[in-house]
Amino acid sequence: MTNFYFAGVDTVYLANKYKTPLYVMSENIILDRIREIRTNFLEKYKNTEAFYASKAFLTKEMARIIKRENFGIDIVSGGELYTAMEVDFPAEKIIFHGNNKTEEELEMAVQYGVGRIIVDNLYELSLLNHITKKYNKKANILFRVTPEVESNTHRYIQTGQLDSKFGIPLSQGIIFEAIEKALNLPYINLLGFHFHIGSQILHNKNYKKAIENTIKLMKEAKSRYGFITEELNIGGGYGIKYTDDDERRPISYFTDAAMEEIETNCSKYKLKRPKVIIEPGRWIVGEAGITLYTIGSIKRIPGVRTYVSVDGGMTDNPRPSLYQAKYKGIIANKANEEATEVVTIAGKCCESGDILIWDLKVPQVEAGDILAILSTGAYNYSMASNYNKIPKPAVVMIKDGVDRLIVKRESYAEMIKNEL
Ligand SMILES: *Cc1c(COP(=O)(O)O)cnc(C)c1O
Repeated sequence: MTNFYFAGVDTVYLANKYKTPLYVMSENIILDRIREIRTNFLEKYKNTEAFYASKAFLTKEMARIIKRENFGIDIVSGGELYTAMEVDFPAEKIIFHGNNKTEEELEMAVQYGVGRIIVDNLYELSLLNHITKKYNKKANILFRVTPEVESNTHRYIQTGQLDSKFGIPLSQGIIFEAIEKALNLPYINLLGFHFHIGSQILHNKNYKKAIENTIKLMKEAKSRYGFITEELNIGGGYGIKYTDDDERRPISYFTDAAMEEIETNCSKYKLKRPKVIIEPGRWIVGEAGITLYTIGSIKRIPGVRTYVSVDGGMTDNPRPSLYQAKYKGIIANKANEEATEVVTIAGKCCESGDILIWDLKVPQVEAGDILAILSTGAYNYSMASNYNKIPKPAVVMIKDGVDRLIVKRESYAEMIKNEL
């Protein structure tokens, strides 16, 4: 009997040691991804920067790893900013995103001195102007634009289309009103434009179209206002391998195509090529994480389906129920046994939609088996909830074959500690 090993460690040993459900992350995979970005993007192209989109997976330890690697970090809320501040993350290496940053969050960002604020709309511009004046501090901003392209991904994770809650549309003239306003505000330093067309993107066609549309805007801003774009932030969204149907793409697949498109369009419009910033999240951490569960009840409905229930579910991984995300699973304590049946992996929450994997081929399963679900490093821990009053799992980080706890399992008492 062979167990499934992840990052050089026996996952059954981890499940016994830390209990389940359990998130397991590989620091070596995270570091490999960061190094790939450094070698094949940052060192290959001058005047570039990479920021980790922390909403994919953020804990204090993750922020420390990113800080040590000298990458920047993207945040989208006061809570993410607070987490970064707790590990003294350098403020100038923080980018603040979001379509509805509150006044408190913007104050926090201005006081801490975050490097870039990505202004999403005109309301935010005036709010920020008011705050920067109050603190007598200048803010560096980019405008988030919606480049009006679709991205071949689930509707819930598309963000670049005209009908989106994010960003300023390129058509309809609002962007020019915004640029003109920003250029006249003494405490606002407009540096350029940002777009992010969506997540889990596996093809470059619409990404290139978004670049082309945004560079046209750069050209228009130059001819109307003499505005020179210093920074072009082309977001993240680089897709990863979830199941055997997906192909893992190197970072250069996306960044080489993007840089070529940028160079081509900048020379076409006789523009200086601005600094190019990328913001990968999932691509750095997605495949670096797995989740371990213990199998409990098994319901066989002859001729219909077999439901295999685990001790977690949509509370630790809402993505399958939120947008039909697909995952690969392995029975960790029967890793080399032949798959003889097809089962459906169900969570323990009181929702029929709480299914983690439909139709997974497995060996003969029984209660007590350990299930490993792969590629759960992104948008699992960070999206976890306490629905059904289920405590959040622990997170273990593995480096060079050594496991260490980085987030303790939540207790029942901790879960209700704020309830009066
Ligand atoms: C979510 C997000 C990212 C990262 O997306 P991934 O799919 O995790 O790479 C980058 N930039 C912005 C603005 C985002 O909202």
